[in-house]
Amino acid sequence: MKTDQLEIEIPEEMDSDLGEIPIVLVESSEGTQANERSLENEDSDFIWLKVDGQRRLATRNYVEGNTVYGEKTFKKNGSEYRIWDPFRSKLAAGLYIGLDIFPITKGTKVLYLGASTGTTVSHISDIVDYNGQIFAVEHASRVARDFLDRVANFRKNITPILQDARHPKQYFSVYGKVDVVYSDIAQPDQTEIAIANCRAFLKDGGYIFLIIKTRSIDVTQSPKNVISNEIKKLEANFQVLQSMTLEPYDKDHGLVVAKYQVKD
Ligand code: SAM
Repeated sequence: MKTDQLEIEIPEEMDSDLGEIPIVLVESSEGTQANERSLENEDSDFIWLKVDGQRRLATRNYVEGNTVYGEKTFKKNGSEYRIWDPFRSKLAAGLYIGLDIFPITKGTKVLYLGASTGTTVSHISDIVDYNGQIFAVEHASRVARDFLDRVANFRKNITPILQDARHPKQYFSVYGKVDVVYSDIAQPDQTEIAIANCRAFLKDGGYIFLIIKTRSIDVTQSPKNVISNEIKKLEANFQVLQSMTLEPYDKDHGLVVAKYQVKD
């Protein structure tokens, strides 16, 4: 799926309180067709809107009333939306910067490594909706408890897994193949761990979103160099589609999107 989505504008006088607000459709950079399609079937996974002249991203809340990290909400045509903060979520930062490919949509099955307290997982949960599923791996028990209390206990499309992502065979029996592996674990061997999980759980033709914490790998090299070295590790089994640093939202991370190609 391309990232051309419905864009709406919130009138300035309403923007301080994103409560029950009227919205105004504006033409997206992709032209009107995507807007019209999105408006017609009210089926957007996420939407762009304008608040105080600024472009903002939001997802339709899978569980109305469940907010996760103090994000603002607003109502549109009877549905609740949550503003998705690019300074708090690297996936949102990627969308702001210009991800071309976004293969997460309604019904997508995602294996998520490094759930933490669930900021990004919660927005993916909004997007994949009732028919999707997120298998969310986190190894730190205190963090995982927060994740359960604030996010996973409210959302039926999340299966929390308290395990070390270094040992995918320990959660092997939980599920079959997934469409997307999303990895954000900030470890020196983060790419190797992500690849091992893809081998175990990603379907042929599925996608990996690899968040690379460059400082965890080598503080002496520029982030761009670190990212290109990590990309080389992917090349044997993946077609790399896009890579980016996440500045200005995040100075230490890069994002790589690649397609998995199983080789005999
Ligand atoms: N992805 C989260 C978000 O956007 O909301 C933030 C993830 S945070 C940068 C990294 C998380 O990965 C931490 O919660 C950490 O405990 C977890 N983690 C690190 N190594 C791990 C491992 N080997 N297995 C599972 N989780 C791990």
